[in-house]
Amino acid sequence: DRWIDVRGLQKIYRPRKSEPTHALADVDFAVRKGEFVAVVGPSGCGKTTLLKILAGLVQRSEGTVRISGVDVDGPKREVGMVFQAPTLLPWRTILENVLVPVEVQKLDKTAHRKRAVELLDMVGLGGFADKYPNELSGGMQQRAGICRALVHDPAVLLLDEPFGALDAMTREYMNVELLRIWRESRKTAVLVTHSIPEAVFLSDRVIVMTPRPGRIAEIIDIDLDRP
Ligand code: ADP
Ligand code: ADP
Repeated sequence: DRWIDVRGLQKIYRPRKSEPTHALADVDFAVRKGEFVAVVGPSGCGKTTLLKILAGLVQRSEGTVRISGVDVDGPKREVGMVFQAPTLLPWRTILENVLVPVEVQKLDKTAHRKRAVELLDMVGLGGFADKYPNELSGGMQQRAGICRALVHDPAVLLLDEPFGALDAMTREYMNVELLRIWRESRKTAVLVTHSIPEAVFLSDRVIVMTPRPGRIAEIIDIDLDRP
């Protein structure tokens, strides 16, 4: 059951004006359907590169990367991504922001509007659909960002330090929220974080990476019976 299937992945950045960087070397792993995997490691170990390759936003140098059997070779509707800082469009309402992937991918608007409203209700933003991003707190904006990532029902949810810009209290609260959203939506999820407690709290397995070049040092099973 290799819902996400990564084999022999290499990434070498070759900037025109500086030396090449071996960002990822010999990366092999698989993620089961419905599993929550966290990727941890120090800055520069290739976490963001790995996530961007899964999202089809960065090209790999070598290896195979498949999501639900489909080779990842460009931005794909199979993926929903949550970024580090809230990236909502300030001139659009929260609901209109959540519907951006629906527009970009030219999906049916009416059906997805209903889904968007359900998702906003699920994260406690039901009353904020017609507000603008600057009327919401940072944590609320990130929750809207999660709705946007889920609105088109992607095969995989990718999260890049989604709460890194929030204060410690909000961050802990958002982790609890994220776990609840993940349980309700049963999405296969890959989270990048440099917080080990956060990784252990949220995930079924933790992929630990080391830098120069970025490799998998070990994969740890978090063997706990979640309530
Ligand atoms: P992390 O997310 O773990 O901090 P990154 O994936 O951002 O790691 O970076 C891994 C390595 O690749 C670092 O050495 C970084 O400087 C380099 N790198 C990342 N993006 C680029 C890029 N666009 N061009 C050149 N080097 C890059
Ligand atoms: P993170 O650790 O979250 O990746 P960084 O500050 O390392 O954040 O990188 C921010 C952005 O800059 C990323 O999009 C990354 O791809 C890019 N980047 C990182 N290192 C380099 C580099 N050496 N050359 C060009 N772009 C880079």
